[in-house]
Amino acid sequence: MVLSSSGAVGRYDLHTHSNVSDGTTSPAQIAEAAYELGLSGFALTDHDTTEGWVEAREAATGLGVDFLPGIELTTTHDWRSIHLLAYGPREDSSKLQDALGELRDSRWNRAVEMVRRLRNDFPLDWDALLALPETDGVQSLGRPHFADALVAGGYFPDRSTAFARALAPSGPYYVPTMYLDTVEAIGLVREAGGFPVLAHPAARRMRRPIEPERIRELTDGGLGGVELDHPENREDWVRDLRPVVEGLGLLVTGASDFHGEGKPNLLGERTSSAEVVARIREEVASPR
Ligand code: AMP
Ligand code: ZN
Ligand code: FE
Ligand code: FE
Repeated sequence: MVLSSSGAVGRYDLHTHSNVSDGTTSPAQIAEAAYELGLSGFALTDHDTTEGWVEAREAATGLGVDFLPGIELTTTHDWRSIHLLAYGPREDSSKLQDALGELRDSRWNRAVEMVRRLRNDFPLDWDALLALPETDGVQSLGRPHFADALVAGGYFPDRSTAFARALAPSGPYYVPTMYLDTVEAIGLVREAGGFPVLAHPAARRMRRPIEPERIRELTDGGLGGVELDHPENREDWVRDLRPVVEGLGLLVTGASDFHGEGKPNLLGERTSSAEVVARIREEVASPR
């Protein structure tokens, strides 16, 4: 769905990635695209880093677009990979920044090991990929960067094929990266004055949606919301989860998970209302 400008008034896209992590557009370009779509605002939620906030905030402010700072944290709970969105934590929380630093260091070590495994079967300039943090300011190296390198090298037609054929966890080149425990991450986010939201809990790439029992446990730990409206969520799974989420009094959010050219997800294709953003802001240390 492409939003008309009038349909975007009062709407916020609360999950976007820039080239500070694995998106392909800069934080400022996301602000510009949000402005052009007529969105009221957006959150930047790069993986395991707050590095893009200053640029996004500056660009958004200049355009009169409302900016909410965020992060998408790499976590695990009950043997499952869980992405946790954190809105509005204090950027200078040393405990939070220490954890983010550890996650990024682990991503770096994992990148070195994955390159070692990929090198023989897919000869190309892997050193250029490992230089991305210095040359292009990439803070969070991830599999999408490997996918792009494989596509540029002519091995696969697009990111998704590269993921399926060479980068899947079941494949020989995959190396896991560090995960925070989800409940500990929720505590860390709350302690830093942030609002934790469970990302894409019913994404179709998962074998099964997050179980209601897990959502209850996370809610006991301080979870504030669940991203029920996400382009990759399966509608039938969402139908089952919605009464659980609403029964627990959790906030329901909507967002696109925009990655620029890196994924088909379109900026603003799923959104949250101004009321939802206002409720998040009531509970956070860095509302803008
Ligand atoms: P990583 O955290 O480095 O293991 O990589 C996970 C990231 O890759 C997430 O941001 C996903 O959105 C992205 N991703 C996973 N599968 C695909 C795919 N098939 N095509 C493009 N991006 C993907
Ligand atoms: Zn991503
Ligand atoms: Fe995610
Ligand atoms: Fe994401």
